Amino acid sequence: MPVHTPYWWEEAPRPEVPKQPVAGNCDVAVVGAGYAGLGAGLELVRKGRSVQVFDKGVAGGGGSSRSGGITSGNLRISFSKMISTLGLERAKAYYSEAIEARDDLAQFIASEKIDCQHQPVGRFTAATRPKHYETLAREAEALNRHFDLGAGVVPRSGQHAEIGSDMYHGGVVRPDIAGVHPALLHQGMLDTALKAGVGVHAHTGVSDIRREGNRFELATSRGVISAGNVIVCTNGYTDGAVPWLRKRIVPVPSMIIATEPISRKLMDRLCPKRRMLGDTNRVHHYFRPSPDGTRILFGGRAAGNLQVDGPVAHDHLRQKMVRIFPDLADVGLSHVWWGYVAMNLDHLPQLVVRDGVCYATGFCGSGVVWARWFGRKAALKILGDPAGASAFEGQPFSAIPFYNGNPWFVPAAVAWFKFLDRFGL
Ligand SMILES: Cc1cc2nc3c(=O)[nH]c(=O)nc-3n(C[C@H](O)[C@H](O)[C@H](O)COP(=O)(O)OP(=O)(O)OC[C@H]3O[C@@H](n4cnc5c(N)ncnc54)[C@H](O)[C@@H]3O)c2cc1C
Repeated sequence: MPVHTPYWWEEAPRPEVPKQPVAGNCDVAVVGAGYAGLGAGLELVRKGRSVQVFDKGVAGGGGSSRSGGITSGNLRISFSKMISTLGLERAKAYYSEAIEARDDLAQFIASEKIDCQHQPVGRFTAATRPKHYETLAREAEALNRHFDLGAGVVPRSGQHAEIGSDMYHGGVVRPDIAGVHPALLHQGMLDTALKAGVGVHAHTGVSDIRREGNRFELATSRGVISAGNVIVCTNGYTDGAVPWLRKRIVPVPSMIIATEPISRKLMDRLCPKRRMLGDTNRVHHYFRPSPDGTRILFGGRAAGNLQVDGPVAHDHLRQKMVRIFPDLADVGLSHVWWGYVAMNLDHLPQLVVRDGVCYATGFCGSGVVWARWFGRKAALKILGDPAGASAFEGQPFSAIPFYNGNPWFVPAAVAWFKFLDRFGL
């Protein structure tokens, strides 16, 4: 039977942060100790501010230690579509920032000497339909023309050099995308933040944020504190403490299964270049070899419902994996886990200041790059540093009609998207 905790936690168990006293006053309070919250905290202490980061659970117990670790820095709206809907200038600004953010993460990992198995191996996105291959090829051509990314198309006839599967119709390689061990990345950020003087308080939930004159009062499970500024980095784990955000963010469960170790020969066949992998379905799958190249980690929607804890959910995902890689039919699973990604109506990351509170959120399943980037941007905004500006500011961040935080409609939406995928619509 597989264990129901992330494979990543074997090597990087969730840290118990040494309990420190909660200070009654600080310059900045940050809610959420994932990549975004730690990215914000680190920037602020290094610029001389006193910072306390609060997390209702273990530090990094949210998306940041559960992900696939693919540094996609993805935007859900393709570059070509953005050009036609928003114009070339906006589309270029958004995509340039994605490239900058991805590079910045790699530089951060190197400069802070974070040993998180950063592997710049590239990503192969496989086309589930012939027409998707055409779309991928056009997108690659547009990206190369404007950004010189070196994206390369691979026809179906050559795809075995990228993936040991006959399910696809070719695909595209993006050499600029890498893999990391997400929990080691979080651990490295946490160690760096604690060393720099960020006050990180795990198991300390924030239940209310209230403006009092030109400061804020936060009700925490360890007392009320006063802060000059507040940054909210709760993403897919947003709760009633921030009702404004809750109406804008839908927590969608995403699940990953890890296989038992497979032979090197089999891995050579399935993932000859050890790249990050994904497909073009709306309800898409993302998968990769483990950093040591011994297992396949395969992620996607569990089943079309919110019940992610039972065997039905991971069996469903396993069947999908075996359809892609029949060679894995007899290979057992070692780990099964899931977490929430945060989707929003506008499908773009958000950096928003509202009633004096700064929000960094809406990473739509691509926060390995975006979360730290926007946490840091939020910090720079508070510091009044022009580097806090982002192309993503000022865009709509719409409330979802008739939604108060109970995502009852997710199963129906997933089922609808699966239907569209099934019939290639
Ligand atoms: C299964 C899975 C696979 C994924 N795969 C990828 C991938 O391959 N590539 C990629 O780029 N992205 C991926 N993601 C998304 C990525 O992990 C997230 O976007 C990113 O980690 C978000 O970081 P964050 O700091 O914004 O939020 P999180 O890491 O989710 O942290 C939010 C924190 O806020 C805390 N919190 C919430 N409310 C309160 C409160 N009231 N008081 C105190 N604390 C609170 C929570 O406890 C939580 O720890 C995946 C996510 C999942 C779940």
